[in-house]
Amino acid sequence: MNFLDFFQDHTCYLCHEEEGTIPYLCPQCRDRLDFQPGYRQKNGQAIYNGFFYTGSLRKILTDYKFESKTYLSKTLAHLFIQVLGQFDPGQDLDGFVVVPSAKETLKKRGFDPMDLIGLEIHRLSGLNYYQGRLEKIKNTPLQLGLSGKEREENLVQAFRARDLEGKNILLLDDILTTGSTLYQASLALEEAGVHQVYPISLSA
Ligand SMILES: [Zn+2]
Repeated sequence: MNFLDFFQDHTCYLCHEEEGTIPYLCPQCRDRLDFQPGYRQKNGQAIYNGFFYTGSLRKILTDYKFESKTYLSKTLAHLFIQVLGQFDPGQDLDGFVVVPSAKETLKKRGFDPMDLIGLEIHRLSGLNYYQGRLEKIKNTPLQLGLSGKEREENLVQAFRARDLEGKNILLLDDILTTGSTLYQASLALEEAGVHQVYPISLSA
């Protein structure tokens, strides 16, 4: 339990009823999330996605990232594990990486949203987290408002990976839009010698 948690009221973030098995989420609000796991095709890449990025999930993710509600990383990690529970890679996995923030974004925001979720996923599932092995080396402007092609150009060589040769890994991100972030991150991982990359998104 960290400092923030200690002072955080353990009720549902959305309706303030008692939380259930997922921190800060009650069973009723959990059931209302639109969970439809399956593959989406983006840029010729099959991306496994869990939830629809609507309503309550959108609120949780937005408040987590933009209002620094860092304790919601626990809620989101549980939801991510729900997605991973449906996913079958068809072979043994070595672990996972997350799509990281660029250093400048990290400085401004004060935390790396996917890194916190990654640490929680590791804590809850025991799955290896190759923390820091995938880096965002170019600080790309916010993807919002850019066209698909602009996003693509914006992200070219935005990532660098290391020390993952021959591994089968999951690549995790929170929101899937055009798929270019996961695509570029996958390229960096393949360049670093990763054997198999499985891109997985919490929501789309
Ligand atoms: Zn609720």
